[in-house]
Amino acid sequence: MRAGFSFEVLAVDSATSARVGLLRTPHGDVETPVFCPVGTAATVKSVSVDELEATGATLCLANTYHLMLRPGADRMERLGGLHQFMQWPRPLMTDSGGFQAFSLGLAREHGVSKIGGVFPEEPSQAKKSGPTARKGTDKGKLATVDDDGVTFRSFIDGSMHRLNPEISIGLQQKLGADLIVAFDECTSPLSDHEYTREAMERTHRWAVRSLQAHPPDRPQALMGIVQGGAYEDLRRASTRYIASLPFDAFCVGGSLGKNKSEMHQVLDWSVPDLPTDRFRHLLGIGDVDDMFESVQRGIDSFDCVLPTRFARHGNLLLTPPLGRPANRFRLNVWNARHAEDPSPVDPSCGCPLCTRYSRAYLRHLFQAQELLGIRLASVHNLWFMQDLMRKMRASIRTATFASLKAEWFEPEAHGRPRSGPQSDCGPA
Ligand SMILES: [Zn+2]
Repeated sequence: MRAGFSFEVLAVDSATSARVGLLRTPHGDVETPVFCPVGTAATVKSVSVDELEATGATLCLANTYHLMLRPGADRMERLGGLHQFMQWPRPLMTDSGGFQAFSLGLAREHGVSKIGGVFPEEPSQAKKSGPTARKGTDKGKLATVDDDGVTFRSFIDGSMHRLNPEISIGLQQKLGADLIVAFDECTSPLSDHEYTREAMERTHRWAVRSLQAHPPDRPQALMGIVQGGAYEDLRRASTRYIASLPFDAFCVGGSLGKNKSEMHQVLDWSVPDLPTDRFRHLLGIGDVDDMFESVQRGIDSFDCVLPTRFARHGNLLLTPPLGRPANRFRLNVWNARHAEDPSPVDPSCGCPLCTRYSRAYLRHLFQAQELLGIRLASVHNLWFMQDLMRKMRASIRTATFASLKAEWFEPEAHGRPRSGPQSDCGPA
């Protein structure tokens, strides 16, 4: 990696590909596997940076798409860059902006809420082929792709904007995060093989242009991004090609398939061909089961909006024994059963919510639409994620990753009943 950065694998689980690593950056060290809270608009929603640091977060991701539109990369640069602006002293990552620029257009076209991290429920109702937004004939399209880049409409005011490799890298240089990502084209899980191949080849050409726009003397680490949808030949080809380029680290991105088993396959086709001595990030994944499956396959890092989004809806993440696959590791605080429950959300959690307040109080805050409820719930869910990653790192170091996974997913094998006093907890 370039000056100021290094990545070292410190321990590998003997039974799986799970590994503990240390990423060093100019803004501090990151132990991996790590969960990166998402600060979409230079803030992790409803949480102060002090609260965020207290959860144990070491690496955060911000979205170039949102920041280029508001407040703008030039203004951010004049104000000292993203670290200074949002007062986050630790390592930061930005994405290329491509995911949102493409997904906002494609999601509308394919009738899915989002691509990549969220799997459409009814693909039969959506188009099977690739995007038709490319020709720009429909004025209602939110994104028009060509071989140079993408033109898209702002979700804020409908104004037209352009992203290509040089523009994306230039924006990310101004934002100033420690880790930045090459510009790529995201396809939908519903795009066919032909279109996914075409988009992958475009992504490969854009990878070279991203590298040229960010020479080795620049101070930020540049991450390459593997595409290829959920097609084995394309994923393998994309991984081999991207891994052959002089990137400092790598992301597995784009469409990860229509369901969880396809996502695990995509990882099986890509991760083994990534260089073992580089940091590997999986974009947009944050479900508990997906994180276990991905760490087991050698992924070092994740980002996802789910913990804070769950929190805003009153869904609190739970550690075993309260959290189980049956309740999807969640408690729904709106449930009437919690109205007079003096116990904490999770007695095993050390967060400010669980160490001080009751379920009854949190439920009251949500019912009264008091902002403190969302804030405490967000801190709790972020705390849960960091605690889970700490447990994973410890288990990899002691060669007990498989038993940690069994503790979470096979509770009966650990002498714990599948249902108990907390069986009303979920799913959300
Ligand atoms: Zn808690």
